[in-house]
Amino acid sequence: MGVVVFIKFMYDLIIIGAGPAGLTAAIYATRREMKTLIIGRELGGQMIWASEIENYPGFEKVSSLELINKMKEQVLKFGAELISDEVKKIEKTEDGHFLLYTNREKFAAKTVLVAMGLSPRRLAVPGETEFNGKGVSYCANCDGPFYRGKTVAVIGGGNSALDAAEVLSKIAKEVYLLHRQDHFRAFESLVDTIKNRPNIVSLLSTEIKGIFGTEKVNKIKVFNNKTKEEKDISLEGIFIEIGRIASTDLVEEFVERNEKDQIVVNTQGETKTPGLFAAGDVTVGEFKQITIAMGQATTAVLSAYQYLQLKAGKTFVPENY
Ligand code: NDP
Repeated sequence: MGVVVFIKFMYDLIIIGAGPAGLTAAIYATRREMKTLIIGRELGGQMIWASEIENYPGFEKVSSLELINKMKEQVLKFGAELISDEVKKIEKTEDGHFLLYTNREKFAAKTVLVAMGLSPRRLAVPGETEFNGKGVSYCANCDGPFYRGKTVAVIGGGNSALDAAEVLSKIAKEVYLLHRQDHFRAFESLVDTIKNRPNIVSLLSTEIKGIFGTEKVNKIKVFNNKTKEEKDISLEGIFIEIGRIASTDLVEEFVERNEKDQIVVNTQGETKTPGLFAAGDVTVGEFKQITIAMGQATTAVLSAYQYLQLKAGKTFVPENY
């Protein structure tokens, strides 16, 4: 028997993504009395990957968990609904509304804000998918504590990888830092910190060929692309930190995308589809920062509000905000 799908009432705005962009958008939307639903896979979005945040105005240093919880409280206080789920399909109806399908339900909205952020890039080596969650992780801050006193590896040569190695060196017994180039591409101060940590072993010009284990990871096979030497490293955990990518196939038919699959928006946060807006890291733009994502979300929501006002034949006076 098929799953019974039913439509809840019509939302003014459905936000896809519960990161800083999505949560900010909900605050602005509910203050304009828009009936708002956030559908997000992970509350906090990419903020959960940071342990502490030092560049959020008003907080000299704040734990990402604390900031996420404060944002959530504010969002719920203003009356937005928040569900943890994944949007699988979007349709636009003939009268210009949107239908969003999750695994369990179907929702209807007059406008949609896409604020899905970025997802970790996959290494695409044998064993990566098989051992995901069984030794393979994409978040040192979330999963690091499970590896106290153990041996782990971090893959990547950018700031994220070096940051992860630094965090893990305080928890794990030994951290292998593997990078395919012969030099790191990270802040000099971070490179210095890594060099001075006795339990971090940097393996440059090194590629990973496969991840192996029985129930959990117990070794990786690596290859030096200069000496052509291959060897096994015994370990319990492997942290993949090789950048983030936009996964935007869900909205492919509604938006234009650049070569990195990021969504093209104008300065109002509008996409090529009237009523469908986008904001945050999932959009084009060189700089990916919490504060930038929040600013873009604010603009996009005010544009969505303007769109609804004009559609309802009402006047919209932007300078009133
Ligand atoms: P980056 O794109 O900067 O680095 C990705 C790293 O992964 C590169 O070393 C790259 O190697 C490597 N890589 C990519 N694909 C593969 C692959 N298939 N196999 C092996 N290695 C691979 O991403 P980050 O996540 O490190 O950083 C993203 C942005 O966030 C950057 O702008 C960064 O500066 C910023 N950031 C800032 C922090 C801070 O301010 N403290 C902390 C973390 C990130 P190659 O060079 O060979 O392509």
